[in-house]
Parts: sequence; structure tokens; C-alpha cells
Amino acid sequence: MSEYDTIIIGGGPAGSTAGALLAEKGRKVLILEKEKFPRYHVGESLMPFCYFTFERLGILDMLNERAYTNKHSVQFVTKDGKMSAPFYFFQHLDHPAATTWQVKRSEFDELMLDNARSKGAEVREETQVIDFIYEGERVVGVTAKTKGGESYELRASVTVDASGRDALFQSKRRWRKRDPMLNKIAIWTLFKGAKRDPGLDEGATTVAYLDNRGWFWNIPMKDDIVSSGIVAERDYLYKDTRDPAAIFKREIENNVWIKDHLSCGEQFGEYWVTGEYSYRSEHCAADGVVLIGDAFAFLDPVFSSGVFLALKSGEMAADAIDASLASGDVSASAFNAYGEELCSAIETMRSLVYAFYDNDFSFGKLIRKNGDLRGTLTDCLIGDLADKDFEPLMKAVGEITKLPERLPYGRAASA
Ligand SMILES: Cc1cc2nc3c(=O)[nH]c(=O)nc-3n(C[C@H](O)[C@H](O)[C@H](O)COP(=O)(O)OP(=O)(O)OC[C@H]3O[C@@H](n4cnc5c(N)ncnc54)[C@H](O)[C@@H]3O)c2cc1C
Repeated sequence: MSEYDTIIIGGGPAGSTAGALLAEKGRKVLILEKEKFPRYHVGESLMPFCYFTFERLGILDMLNERAYTNKHSVQFVTKDGKMSAPFYFFQHLDHPAATTWQVKRSEFDELMLDNARSKGAEVREETQVIDFIYEGERVVGVTAKTKGGESYELRASVTVDASGRDALFQSKRRWRKRDPMLNKIAIWTLFKGAKRDPGLDEGATTVAYLDNRGWFWNIPMKDDIVSSGIVAERDYLYKDTRDPAAIFKREIENNVWIKDHLSCGEQFGEYWVTGEYSYRSEHCAADGVVLIGDAFAFLDPVFSSGVFLALKSGEMAADAIDASLASGDVSASAFNAYGEELCSAIETMRSLVYAFYDNDFSFGKLIRKNGDLRGTLTDCLIGDLADKDFEPLMKAVGEITKLPERLPYGRAASA
């Protein structure tokens, strides 16, 4: 007998979405989180279509009450500091979802985890999952370790890996497949008192280009804080030093818009560095286990798709798990449709990410040649991916840049 219907490893956006929805369906859910919330996390800029998962989770009012910075648009700035017309979501979407948020992830993740708790999920923080328990080929639970070092076993009909970039199951099974073309480095930090654009543009995400398709992100958040980061090739960033603070200061000088916005602010806290973050798992599920959010795949920071895919995969997995528990079939094949749908959404965005990093491509060029595709492009960039035909868009993008081959992995493991 399993103690739980579902054990979820990790209480980030993916884990708390799946946990809240399964608990709401009356399933006995346990979320194990190694940290004590609130804790810092990168990934503050949301995509408009996160709205519909928030709506289903019943947290829209809470998000509004937190007074996060409203994000109405994304804007692009050239290497020489010229800003193109902002990409306003409300020009395409006449719906409250057209306004999204720049969130403080420590607060946002805590709100989401508390929501899962309030829906009936049991949450144990400062509890790290260290291994999986098998019966034959099937995962039947986990070994967890408390902060004090005591370890114990827990059993569930289905285990969900939502451990983010730690990707516990992926690393145990050596399932991680890197995306070699997206092998970038990111360095980021926070500023207080940096310059903000006026009016509607105050909360815009800005993507400001550097040489060799490197770029800065500028994310204005509440409490007068701006998250700013650089994404670029390793050779470019480390050409004369490996000191992240020195690299950051050097690159601020390389974009006039960034210099103008950041130089009146004061940098504080750490300079964080990460690399090799573009990957997908060979499989999205094995018997008794399902992978969601970053524990399954991560693309690239550029279109702020990370939290959106974490929420979406959490939602899709919760529905698939509920159905599998109802039928009594928790084998990998019960998650075939989940894997297909998720991989197809990721592939659409992946093609645009590849295009973004090609020197010969620009969204301006694409739309000048194919004005009729502006709406479809916007659908993709806001996360409106369900039941849409992206073939014409991909064909047009493919006329300007070489599209990546679809990756053959990410589906449920076969028996
Ligand atoms: C440089 C960079 C910039 C980014 N910017 C953006 C952005 O602007 N917008 C955006 O949408 N996305 C962004 N992302 C991506 C975003 O951060 C992630 O996609 C998102 O946080 C994924 O959510 P998750 O729930 O899958 O994982 P996480 O948010 O990482 O949550 C996983 C949780 O699991 C816990 N955990 C890990 N291992 C264990 C274990 N063994 N036992 C128990 N608990 C465990 C962790 O403590 C953590 O709380 C960015 C990513 C990078 C690298």
C-alpha cells in the first residue's frame, strides 16, 4: 500500500502547480522541498499565458494584491542602444491575460507553495529527496533526508520529479541531453534605483543586444529593484577575465541603453553565473514517475518561457496523473500524450530561440516579409500554443534561418 497517491520532489512553480491541482482533485499529495521558503530564485519575468494556470489555481487575486510590476510588453534594443517599438501584448490580445507580471520569485514561489498547502497538499520543507525506491522497473517512492541528516522512505503510486535544474531523476538515469547550439553562459545581478521607462513601459522586459548575439535582460521589479543579466557565448564572455563582476561592468559599457538605465542605480548582492542550461530529458516519464518543469527540460532565458512551461507541464501532468490513478495504470505509457504535447510546445519555442541567436535573423525582417504572420508570432511569444498551426510561421522563419531538427527524445520511456 502506498502512503500517498503522489509524492512531488520540489516546491517550485512546477511542483506547487501539480501539487495544488492533484490535492484539489482529492488526491493525497506530499511535496518535499529541500529549501526553507522564501528563498532566492532567478526567473522573474512571466509570459502572458501563465494567466490561465493562475486562474485555474485560483491565485489571480493574490497576485494582484502583491502589487508586482505590471508587464505589458517586451522591447528590443540594438547594439548601438536604439529601442524598437515595444511589442505590447494588448495590441494582440483583448483579455486581462495581456497584462502579466515581473515577480519577486522568493515571494511568488512561497505564495504558490502556500496555495498548494491550502488546497490540501502536505508540504515538508528542508527535506531533500536523495534517491528513488524501485519495485522491479517501477518507481514506488523516494528516500528523503531531513536537515538534521535523518533519512527515511516514503511510498506513492506516482512520483513527480519537479526538482528544477537539479533534475534528480534525469541525473540518476543519465537522461540529460544537452542542446549543443544553445550552450551559453548567463551572468546576472540586481540593481536598486536604476532608471525606469515612463508610463506603460515601466515594467517592460528589455532585451538589449551585445556583439555576437549576446544580450542583456533588464527586468524592472517592485521595490525599485531591477534584475539584469547577460547571456552570451563562453568565449566572448571569458575573453579577458573570468571575474563575473568585471565582465558585467565591461559589458554595461557596450550598450548605451543599458549604461543609461543601470548607471544611476546601485548594484547589490551576488553576481550569479550559470551555464549549460539548455537540455531535455531523454524521456518525460518512466513507470511510476513523471518529470515536469526544469526537471524535464529548459530552453533558454530569452523569451521568459521557463515559468510558463513549468506551470503548463505541472498542470498537464496533474491531469494525466489523476487519470492514471483512476485507471490504475501508472506505467510510462500512461504519459505518452503528456510527452507529445509538451515536446511539441517546446519545439515551437525552440525554433524561435534558434532564430533569435542567428545573426541573419530578426523579428523585424520576418514581419516585413510576412506581415500576415505577426499574430501567429505573437501567439508563440505569449505562450498561446494550444491547437494552433505554427507551420506557416516556421516555414517563413526557415526561409531566413536554418531551423533546428526536432529532437527525437522527450517522450515517455517504452516498456
Ligand atoms: C539565467 C536564467 C534566467 C531565467 N529567467 C527567466 C525569466 O525571466 N522568466 C522565466 O519564466 N523563466 C526564467 N528562467 C527559467 C526559470 O527560472 C525556470 O524555468 C523555473 O524556475 C522552473 O520552475 P521549476 O518549478 O521547474 O523549478 P524550480 O523553480 O527550480 O524549483 C525546483 C525546486 O525543487 C527543489 N529541489 C531541487 N532538488 C530537490 C531535491 N532533491 N529534493 C527536494 N527538493 C528539491 C529546489 O529547491 C526548488 O525549490 C531563467 C533561467 C535561467 C537559468
